[in-house]
Amino acid sequence: MNVSTRRILQGSAWILLYLLLTLAPLLVLFVDQRPAGREFWRDFSVALGFCGLAMMALQFALTARFKTLKAPYGSDIVYYFHKRISIATFLLILAHPILLFVFSPDLLRLLNIFDPQTPWRARFAVTSLLALIGLVVFSVWRKKLKIEYTRWRVTHGLLATAGVALGLAHIVGVGYYVNTPLKRWLWIGYATFWVGLLLWVRIIKPFLLLRRPYVVEQVQAERGNAWSLILKPQGHPGIRHFQPGQFAWITAWDSPFADSEHPFSFSTAPHPEGKLGFTIKELGDFTARIKEMQPGQTVYVDGPFGSFSCDQHPHAQNLVFIAGGIGITPMMSMLRTLAERGDRLPLLLIYANRDWESVTFREEIEGLRTRLNLTVLHVLERPPENWQGERGYVTAALLQRVLPTDRTPNHTEIFLCGPQPMMDAVEKALVQVGVPMGDFHSERFDLV
Ligand SMILES: Cc1cc2nc3c(=O)[nH]c(=O)nc-3n(C[C@H](O)[C@H](O)[C@H](O)COP(=O)(O)OP(=O)(O)OC[C@H]3O[C@@H](n4cnc5c(N)ncnc54)[C@H](O)[C@@H]3O)c2cc1C
Repeated sequence: MNVSTRRILQGSAWILLYLLLTLAPLLVLFVDQRPAGREFWRDFSVALGFCGLAMMALQFALTARFKTLKAPYGSDIVYYFHKRISIATFLLILAHPILLFVFSPDLLRLLNIFDPQTPWRARFAVTSLLALIGLVVFSVWRKKLKIEYTRWRVTHGLLATAGVALGLAHIVGVGYYVNTPLKRWLWIGYATFWVGLLLWVRIIKPFLLLRRPYVVEQVQAERGNAWSLILKPQGHPGIRHFQPGQFAWITAWDSPFADSEHPFSFSTAPHPEGKLGFTIKELGDFTARIKEMQPGQTVYVDGPFGSFSCDQHPHAQNLVFIAGGIGITPMMSMLRTLAERGDRLPLLLIYANRDWESVTFREEIEGLRTRLNLTVLHVLERPPENWQGERGYVTAALLQRVLPTDRTPNHTEIFLCGPQPMMDAVEKALVQVGVPMGDFHSERFDLV
């Protein structure tokens, strides 16, 4: 079975499992004994709430970084799905009380959680909903509310955990739809799965990372306000095998339990001694401190992740890399690896930057041309005087001119990584010039 067929089958299997786990609470309602004497709207509203809560519990699995789950799609797609589906999840859960209040307005009194008459099951429901409203508001408007990323991440985890835990407490408290062993087992299963996920993400995984530390071997300044880090495994073999173009999560100045990791693409080829290289551009609090790192400093690395790699497309006849700024890092990993392998495939690198001085890896890329069958096209927004190369942005007209003409699916595989506006524009341009959708692959650096 070839790589693409395996990915399609694996991807479809995960989607089916997702649907099954989301709809299981409803299926059990149908196959099992139905509670008598309830009007349709009340049952319907409960069904929506059940599906919403099951989806909410699955949200934890989507961000728990299971490599097999992410392999068929790539991490950015899984995070994108997590973001989009969370709104649908929230609306399903919200529809549950709204329908109840519309058809039984007397239940509105239960919203007052401070009234001693309000039962605990209702208090659980109201506080669960408040946690979910907070979750949505902080996530959708994080940047507008100027919430710093790491603080947001901790709050996000706490609100989501509270939302699901209180939702489960509400179901148990009501008890009406968990009145048979089958239904009870279903919800015990969900709760166990969810608590297991929390244990894995918060306790077991950080503990395993703690036992596999890396130390900084070298910190080197690069063009474009970036720094290259070489990390060496300490007392373990390290990550010796990864696909060039993949990424890892790095924790520095903190323990893996602190939940303060940041994602970075490998910029080097896999190393026989498990050494890892990353190139990081100064952007915010964490990245601005990379230059302060000292040789010998301990760092934790969780990876590899992602499917943005030429190794995923072994049958390609041509490879095209389109990078903007620091988006060059996964491309460098692929170019360095292909050079080490002595690969002779025709390669085209289209590399967009603001100006000539900030072109990260400029000199090394020049050197790689002699080791690879590589054509390099620099595109500069503000070129120096007498610049003979491309100017402005990567447009459909430029792509039409320079891309290989054969548009047969799987013939030319195109890798795209750069700032978000550039990626949006280039993805549209690629469709415009007739590149088949499955033949270009994007790595987005802004997951959230
Ligand atoms: C798959 C992937 C690969 C990446 N590879 C590289 C690379 O090779 N080189 C490079 O310079 N940058 C890379 N990045 C981007 C890098 O992760 C962010 O620039 C960095 O995390 C910003 O952190 P900060 O605290 O310095 O900036 P901040 O100003 O705090 O954050 C800027 C933005 O970066 C994102 N971000 C911040 N912290 C995190 C985090 N912990 N997890 C996820 N996103 C976060 C948020 O969108 C945030 O708004 C990559 C990102 C992803 C998703």
